[in-house]
Amino acid sequence: MKLHNSIKLSDNLYCYIWQGTGNNCNTCVLTGILKGAKPHIIIDPGHIINEAREDCLGSLEAAMASNGINIEDTGLIINTHSHPDHCEANDIIARKSGASITMSEEENTFRLTTGLQLYELFDMEPPHFTPLFYLKEGSLDLGKDGFKVSVILTPGHSPGSVCLYLEKEKILITGDVIFYMSVGRTDFPGGDTALLEKSIQRLSLLDVEYVVPGHNTEPNGVIRGKQQVQRNFEAVKMFF
Ligand SMILES: [Zn+2]
Repeated sequence: MKLHNSIKLSDNLYCYIWQGTGNNCNTCVLTGILKGAKPHIIIDPGHIINEAREDCLGSLEAAMASNGINIEDTGLIINTHSHPDHCEANDIIARKSGASITMSEEENTFRLTTGLQLYELFDMEPPHFTPLFYLKEGSLDLGKDGFKVSVILTPGHSPGSVCLYLEKEKILITGDVIFYMSVGRTDFPGGDTALLEKSIQRLSLLDVEYVVPGHNTEPNGVIRGKQQVQRNFEAVKMFF
């Protein structure tokens, strides 16, 4: 069985939806965005190998290659948050490609303090990267053709979680803030239910056609259509 199902959501966005039996996150790849020889951006590369001994990174690399995307041409890795299942593969991809890494400052501080408990909990070595810059609330100007993505600070699942919003395409990449009919856990260190509720309230005001959550809670992995997206927001608000 294929471990990642590849979905092309727009001209330059591929979503790699995790299909394995063990845990791993969904990965998004923005292609051909950055200036220079390393134009691709990976959002949440995920695990290297997970608790079920599945070759998560090998599968991602192969899935990207099948879309003509060489992982070595990655110039930037964006983490929605610092949990092991979203950023364990940061170091190895950065070594292969020379990619820089970014996350919010709040999340980076958390990762190097309280967040270490999560790596102990899962008996994993924390990655050793240093972000080149920090993600801030607002427009992140990335590209050669003025490609912009909005960063939205959405704490709750983790203290510095961010969501990424592609305004023109109306695509919202949510990490572990919301899923299909579900929300991110807040019982891990750094979790805060009241903050999560506020974050989700803010997200629900956006004009969104597609939600790409960090994990699969429905077969297709992506919530499609404004109506479905709104219905999902209404449903997840009932968790609070
Ligand atoms: Zn998480």
